[in-house]
Amino acid sequence: MKNTPENPAPPDADARRAAPPVIVYPAETLPARPMALFRKAQKTLRLLETVTVPAREARCFHVPQGHFFRITAPEGPQVGDLNLWNANDLSERFYSGKTRALHGTHLSTGDSLWSSFPHLRPMATITHDTLDWYGFDDDGASVHDVIGTRCDPYTNTLLGGGEYHHCCHSNLIRALAAQTGMTDMQAEDHVHDVLNVFMCTGFTRDTHQYFMKASPVRPGDHLEFVAEIDLLGALSACPGGDCSTTHSSDVATCHPLAVEIYAPEPTALQGWSPPPPNGYSRRHRD
Ligand SMILES: [Zn+2]
Repeated sequence: MKNTPENPAPPDADARRAAPPVIVYPAETLPARPMALFRKAQKTLRLLETVTVPAREARCFHVPQGHFFRITAPEGPQVGDLNLWNANDLSERFYSGKTRALHGTHLSTGDSLWSSFPHLRPMATITHDTLDWYGFDDDGASVHDVIGTRCDPYTNTLLGGGEYHHCCHSNLIRALAAQTGMTDMQAEDHVHDVLNVFMCTGFTRDTHQYFMKASPVRPGDHLEFVAEIDLLGALSACPGGDCSTTHSSDVATCHPLAVEIYAPEPTALQGWSPPPPNGYSRRHRD
């Protein structure tokens, strides 16, 4: 946060501030995802499995490469915190910060969820977002952000909230530990910054501080992805519920979430090749 300045502006301050903004990573420079093919495959989807995520808990789920998954809020407005790993190598995981740099603060149809270095490839691509009508509201807020990190018990303790064990961070740890047989401490090393599914967030106009407001999600909405590699996912139903008031406590009204796993017809993705690992040599020197 920028406080009241202690230094006077230089004579050419206006000229310096007038430099034009340059988009760091123009969208058209990214390798295009085959959205037309994904949409064709989307019309052939067959539901294989539904994983229910209880309120204030998290659950893991598997999505084979080339399958689709939908996150829904079947019983009422609820925010979800999503982690993704390569199912065959947990060191490759969702990289929220780079995804933000590449696609912006909030994700929707056509955006990919990119993986960590040295892989840096699309792990999943969003193929449908029933909340895409929301856009950016008058507060500058939108849905599905990659700016928040996840609610966690460390920050809660730091802020004087005491011990609370159903923060998304702890929920994701318990879910991953149950899925893999790791201890909680081992699982914690794999939990990472999330995609905040259905969460409505932005930065205040004056101080540019992170804010949340009531999620616009309703039963019937979904966010749909195609898995571009074999995925292990974990989804936490945030203790903030619709994140309209508070989180990191049992005060907010919470609902379960669901993850639906779908298979397309076997030939539907013919012509699609999964993204290879990043092509950089990793020499890091001449
Ligand atoms: Zn949370």
